[in-house]
Amino acid sequence: PYDKAKQEITIFDLHFKCSKQYTPFKSPAPRGFLDREGREVEPWRAVTTAAAEDVKEIPVKGWAPEARNGEGVAVETVKEKVGDETLDCLRLTWTRSEGKATTAIATLPFAVNALDWNTYAFLYKVEIVGTGRYERCENLILNKIPQYFMFNKYADNPGVSFACKDDCINWNRYGVTRSYLSEGRRPVAQTPAGWKAFVCDMVNDDPVGNKWFTLDKITNMEFTFKNKMLAPGDKVVFTVARPRLVRGLMYRGGDMKLWEEFKAWKANHKVLPYREALKENRFDEGRLAKPVPIMRNRIIDAEIINAGTTKNRVGRDYTVKLLREELARALNPINDIPVLGKASTNDNVKFFLGMPGDAPESVKTFVAEARQAHQGTAVTIIANDGKKFYFAGSPNYPTVDEGKGIINGVLDFLEANVGLMWPRPAMERGVGAPDPMVVEALRPYRAGKDADLVWGRDWVVESAVKYWGLSDGNEYYSYRNRASYFGCWYGPGAFEFSSYRAYAANHWFGFGGGDQENEKWALSKDGKRLRPGCYTSTPCLIKVIEDGKDAFAAGKITKCMEHLPNAAYYKRYNDDCSPCWIEDTWNTCQCPECLKPFRLPDGTLIKKEDPDFHAEAHFVNANAYLQAVRTYLNRNSELNYLIYFYTIPVPRTPVSGYVRSHFCPYVRVNYDIPIYAPVNDKFWRVISQWCQVARSMGVSEYFLGGNFRPSADVQAFDLAAYREIGVSFFGQETETQNGSFPEMWVAKRKIYMPDWNADSIRAYYCRNVFGAGAELMYDFYAKLRALRYTENRDTDFEETGCSELGRLALKTPSDTKGCDNLGEELDKLINQAYAKTAGDEPANFFVGRALAFWNWYYANAQKEWKD
Ligand SMILES: [Zn+2]
Repeated sequence: PYDKAKQEITIFDLHFKCSKQYTPFKSPAPRGFLDREGREVEPWRAVTTAAAEDVKEIPVKGWAPEARNGEGVAVETVKEKVGDETLDCLRLTWTRSEGKATTAIATLPFAVNALDWNTYAFLYKVEIVGTGRYERCENLILNKIPQYFMFNKYADNPGVSFACKDDCINWNRYGVTRSYLSEGRRPVAQTPAGWKAFVCDMVNDDPVGNKWFTLDKITNMEFTFKNKMLAPGDKVVFTVARPRLVRGLMYRGGDMKLWEEFKAWKANHKVLPYREALKENRFDEGRLAKPVPIMRNRIIDAEIINAGTTKNRVGRDYTVKLLREELARALNPINDIPVLGKASTNDNVKFFLGMPGDAPESVKTFVAEARQAHQGTAVTIIANDGKKFYFAGSPNYPTVDEGKGIINGVLDFLEANVGLMWPRPAMERGVGAPDPMVVEALRPYRAGKDADLVWGRDWVVESAVKYWGLSDGNEYYSYRNRASYFGCWYGPGAFEFSSYRAYAANHWFGFGGGDQENEKWALSKDGKRLRPGCYTSTPCLIKVIEDGKDAFAAGKITKCMEHLPNAAYYKRYNDDCSPCWIEDTWNTCQCPECLKPFRLPDGTLIKKEDPDFHAEAHFVNANAYLQAVRTYLNRNSELNYLIYFYTIPVPRTPVSGYVRSHFCPYVRVNYDIPIYAPVNDKFWRVISQWCQVARSMGVSEYFLGGNFRPSADVQAFDLAAYREIGVSFFGQETETQNGSFPEMWVAKRKIYMPDWNADSIRAYYCRNVFGAGAELMYDFYAKLRALRYTENRDTDFEETGCSELGRLALKTPSDTKGCDNLGEELDKLINQAYAKTAGDEPANFFVGRALAFWNWYYANAQKEWKD
């Protein structure tokens, strides 16, 4: 329109500069090496002056090319001058191999416990490098952008690692090492002329990958190089002097105080015996002073009243449906429960969904106080006055208003009174015939002809964080699930109750991607169009802004799943399937528009050569887009934004207050170690910083390949710490498998009711789900949990088919008579549970599901691993 405008446009371009150095963050203490007394030390000095008993020299002789992928590396011992001395040194020469260029390994048999001997140090020089990339790494500020296992920018550096022959896979063979040379480089070390220092804490430093590395039973020290990085004829000559392991030092990181507390917890942790664990039951609170009759001669005498404000009509309808249907299923009356807008004068049981204006003062006070005490959370409130039950929540909870608290209250009420629970999430997304055992709730209490209510007063629940959710598979019946997460994609009640992701436009609006190549797709360096999406590319940022605005203005919702509710009520575009992807890709648009330099608010001009250019450009465009939408289309628009890959560092561009940042610690080394552990420093540091600039901060975790591993205990430590630094959303992408469904249930419940002991939740679950097999199943999982907590591998997920915990069980002695090892003992327990539940259909079904998975898992554990 500007070319038609008659007026002149004046642009003010003001740049304000701060005269004082401005420190944007209160960051965790900087990383640094500590000695036993906790004093900070210069690492190279510390390893060279360590007492003799704290040093384990690593031989420079005896290294050999590893048999399988040894081609492309020559190993020799050479005499080299190191300061005033002439020493035997290890020399590795990597060349492009003749055959398939892969990772070439040099290995030395060397048994050590790295948990104790954790600091690995040596002098090195790299003399001939063909790629030229090595030098570039040398000059970069290290660790600014967290390294991801698959996009490690030091992949063209020698890898420094170790291996345990008990591990199924030696990951060094695949180029996943513990550290890279450039990561452990110590530029300020005082070293003999011509030599550089490498010092790395193999336990607490940022590891390269999420692949498992047994720490306490190392059998080999290894160096690797991806010789496919070399051109034919290129050479990397890498010489190592004085390699050693040193104990008594550690690389500080994360939150050391919390870390020490966690370590103490873990050292003293004992799994509660089943009977002991059963004693704590959160639902012991909330019992009624005396039973309230609800049904006589199969006639229910009750009504449901739609009370209070219902800003979210759809959500309320789901709540009504839930209460009505499930009560009827449990009590099996011959009449229906009426739903009224206003309470009748009948002397019957009344369920008020929301607070009526004429509620008794005592109820009003109770609800008001609970709301006040848990302001801004999705608090669940149930108050009682004789036969009247009042369900309430926090007003102004996004999208659902107090509906979230009300529906959670209804779920609690049904669970406590009639035993209604879903033992595992409903996987089906309405496609095909759902398995009734999976979709239906377990064992609703079957009344005779009379029934009483026994529970539902003075009930207040505040979850561990304001928004939470666990996927996958739990999306379809969002209204039945306190932990629904990706509800914006699927299913009844989805928008209403998976409110965090439905709250804001996820990432950006549509990018005009489509199947056909078009100008909205990013342009690669060599001029090719890249289809936007996971692992492929982002779209052209400049060219999608208008698309996004248009889509928003049209109230458009892109259907990516069949069951997406198409209600006009939700004009926000909240679809995850056509966002401006920043997930799993470093590929950004290289078109001339996108690569133009621009000025940052601090006055500096940022050009495409700057390592932060893409992140800054992304946020500048996001701000512009959001500003345009908010100004011209919808003042309430917000972005739910993933902080992931290149957008991880907090940008110098101020982040709009309408961006709901969402950090993905992808992938953590494992979920047995809390997020604030030194090994997770790279994540903890950035999350802490983001929390200080983002108005709303979320974290999306990826506990993948859970199998029989625990997750609820450490998750509770994470949640407490996250909440403390300002995280308000916690999500977990995970799989609910036939092996992991009990633990996933516990993990969810532990988010919803954080003050309930995790073992007690486990016992509660087993009692309700596994019937006569409860104690056996509890013990089965408890033994696996104890085993997992005492072993020292770190791995985010088990490789499919490896069954590493099962393998470990086979190697662990058992004190049960007739069992040679823990594996046999576990096998016996779960089979006994299955036999014991024969005739109890639901219990037998769920034990059977776990048993089927165990049989597969256990068989794998006994097989020789072939990678
Ligand atoms: Zn572009």
